[in-house]
Amino acid sequence: MKLLGPAEIRDLAELLNLTPTKKLGQNFVIDANTVRRIVRVAGVQAGDTVLEIGPGLGSLTLGLLEADAAVVAVEIDGRLAEQLPLTVRAMGSSLPAEAARGRLDGPIAALTVLHQDAMRVTELPGTPTRLVANLPYNISVPVLLHLLEHFPSIRSGVVMVQSEVGLRLAAEPGSKVYGGPSVKAAWYGLWRAAGQVSRQVFWPVPNVDSILVAFQRDAEQPGDDALRRRTFEIVDAAFGQRRKMLRQSLASVFGDSAAASAALESAGVPPTSRGEQLTMQHFLAIARVTTPAG
Ligand code: SAM
Repeated sequence: MKLLGPAEIRDLAELLNLTPTKKLGQNFVIDANTVRRIVRVAGVQAGDTVLEIGPGLGSLTLGLLEADAAVVAVEIDGRLAEQLPLTVRAMGSSLPAEAARGRLDGPIAALTVLHQDAMRVTELPGTPTRLVANLPYNISVPVLLHLLEHFPSIRSGVVMVQSEVGLRLAAEPGSKVYGGPSVKAAWYGLWRAAGQVSRQVFWPVPNVDSILVAFQRDAEQPGDDALRRRTFEIVDAAFGQRRKMLRQSLASVFGDSAAASAALESAGVPPTSRGEQLTMQHFLAIARVTTPAG
């Protein structure tokens, strides 16, 4: 299978009369080596079903198909969603450009394209076990959390995100960038930064740096959905007022600061500590004080 390079991306953009939009985070990968690297880091195996969010012009989709994975791709931009199977057919069978202009001989078994907003997807065909995506940067954290919440079949993944966001997702307590996304991500499993990516591999070239982040979901989540919601509520309150001591930042969650202090003490957390010092397990212990189930 041939992958997309700068010339193919240019031709496709011309064919679709496409002007990439910032609003949809449209920066397309134009470098086959980067695509193969992502597929390798993600450990994609033949026969896997992979969920890809925002396939765009198909750079990564083709790399996943090359590794003999089945791909479920969710794309919000209708023109891109419609073109993707045509591109795959054209590139996969080395057909000349006319194939990309509409000669489609039937569905491609290994590819399902959904023209949907990934933030709203709650059902998927097949049972994807991996997430591999170059995420739209403006919604990378909410979309990740949404997918992990709704699709427990996703056990692992690699996503490309803005460096700052990736480092935050993988951060440990005490680190400067540790925050709400770090704790929420840790609810689901283990995260690690898996390598920087040059700006030059994108068209258009973004004005931020990118990084790969890999995750592995834990065998079991630490609690049920009610406990997760309560934990996330406490995390939001703690990091909403990052500089304050927890007995103050959690006052609104528990009623007042005396009630917050009591809850923190019974969770074994000093009321004078700050959110940035606590692990996900600490937040969980605080949530458990008021959420008996889970
Ligand atoms: N995967 C392609 C690549 O690597 O070249 C494109 C990645 S580009 C950073 C992000 C893609 O996500 C775009 O194709 C954009 O249209 C799509 N997108 C943006 N918001 C989306 C959403 N809410 N749901 C699904 N796709 C979205």
